[in-house]
Amino acid sequence: MAKGSAKKQRKFAQAQARKLAASQAVPSSCDVLIVGAGASGLLCALEASSLAAEKSVLLMEAKPTLGAPILATGNGRCNFCHEPLEPSAYNHPSWMEEFFSAAARLWPKATPGRVVQEYFGRLGLLATCHEGRLYPRSLVAASVRDLLLTQLEASSAEVATLRPVVAVEPCEQGFCVRYQERFREDPSAPEGWAQRSLHARRVVLATGGDTLGAIEGLDLPLVPCEPVLCPVEIETELCQQLDGHRAKARVRAYSPSSEPLFDECGEVLFRSSESSQKGVLSGIVAYNLSRQVAPGDSVVLDLLPECTHEQVAALLMRDGSYSPRHLDGALDPAIAHALLPQGIDDGATTLFSAVEAVKSAPFCVSGKAFTQSAQVSRGGLSLHALALPTLEVSAYPGLYVLGEALDIDGACGGYNLGFAWLSGLVCGHALAQKD
Ligand SMILES: Cc1cc2nc3c(=O)[nH]c(=O)nc-3n(C[C@H](O)[C@H](O)[C@H](O)COP(=O)(O)OP(=O)(O)OC[C@H]3O[C@@H](n4cnc5c(N)ncnc54)[C@H](O)[C@@H]3O)c2cc1C
Repeated sequence: MAKGSAKKQRKFAQAQARKLAASQAVPSSCDVLIVGAGASGLLCALEASSLAAEKSVLLMEAKPTLGAPILATGNGRCNFCHEPLEPSAYNHPSWMEEFFSAAARLWPKATPGRVVQEYFGRLGLLATCHEGRLYPRSLVAASVRDLLLTQLEASSAEVATLRPVVAVEPCEQGFCVRYQERFREDPSAPEGWAQRSLHARRVVLATGGDTLGAIEGLDLPLVPCEPVLCPVEIETELCQQLDGHRAKARVRAYSPSSEPLFDECGEVLFRSSESSQKGVLSGIVAYNLSRQVAPGDSVVLDLLPECTHEQVAALLMRDGSYSPRHLDGALDPAIAHALLPQGIDDGATTLFSAVEAVKSAPFCVSGKAFTQSAQVSRGGLSLHALALPTLEVSAYPGLYVLGEALDIDGACGGYNLGFAWLSGLVCGHALAQKD
């Protein structure tokens, strides 16, 4: 598409989005305000409005469209859950265990993963499962998002887009909520957008990672946010020559005091970083690694985990002579050539060290890489601030926080969406019970 015409289309879409937002009437008060129409906010709005249709539920979103974050998930395929959702896959396993037990009181016949799967099944989603990772059968994230939006349209919940909430303050019988109207300019207002406020008896923050600015003024324990589920940066010049090459590997990590931190098998993608002294490990296993390591830790790659040391030695010493090329049939040749010595001797470069280069290639972690595209933000509202099973903030009754806005993050594979959906369902259920 020509540049000019893409720009025109963008402008047209923006104008349409502003028009739509301006046509959405926002009441001056409501029973429940849900802030953020991502995974957790959508399910919370649907559950609360379906179980208590007499309550006024308003879903307010900063962006022009609802459910937009879902479209980017799973490389556009939406790995929407994992079955099972093991507590150990999260950063706070014991809290997750308690949370799952709370959910089990509401849905005693199903595991947490099945609760999510059955919910989407009732909406008409056909799922496919690969090693526990659940996807829509269409392998298109829009299948998941659009089913939710159809359901929302049929519900009694009201929606309002292009309205970021900027402050939530307790007031008599609820909360005073200030929001911007990002479709109505007002040069005298902060940031140049018109500001409005409404009264909500209950407020649910479902705003995703690193987005709790609206409650900064409240006295709440916030854990600083950092990106996780992203590539890991390592000290090596090798990745410059290995950029784009992949290997199935066992990846282990250790702290400087040799404490084991991580042990997982999967495909590692080598990438180069901007700095020539650094390399980058990417792929799902590296994303999971990024949740467990810090600069100074070490990563050890076993590039042939299915072979013993003896078997690797035998491969390298074919017909009694050593050559790194002997591994060309077992490893990507570029990787074998980069890691292995060209020849061996009786000194420092022995057959043992060549085998070690394949079975225990060590690298020092220097940080995380490409953090702007990290899948999850660790940190948010501390879990100590919450009451279970409702996810209500104990110090501010009537305020609830869900999904990634909480200090919960999980491994790759559907765990993060799994938690987001379930937190929305549990909270929506609790809101429906309140008078
Ligand atoms: C590229 C990518 C791929 C991913 N793939 C997967 C995957 O396949 N499987 C998986 O389990 N997880 C995946 N994740 C993680 C997953 O998307 C999130 O954990 C999950 O979406 C969190 O849900 P949430 O409802 O807490 O927040 P979000 O889905 O992020 O929704 C938050 C919503 O709140 C809105 N908002 C924010 N602030 C305000 C405000 N002040 N006022 C009004 N609205 C506001 C945002 O615009 C957004 O629409 C992926 C993440 C990324 C970035």
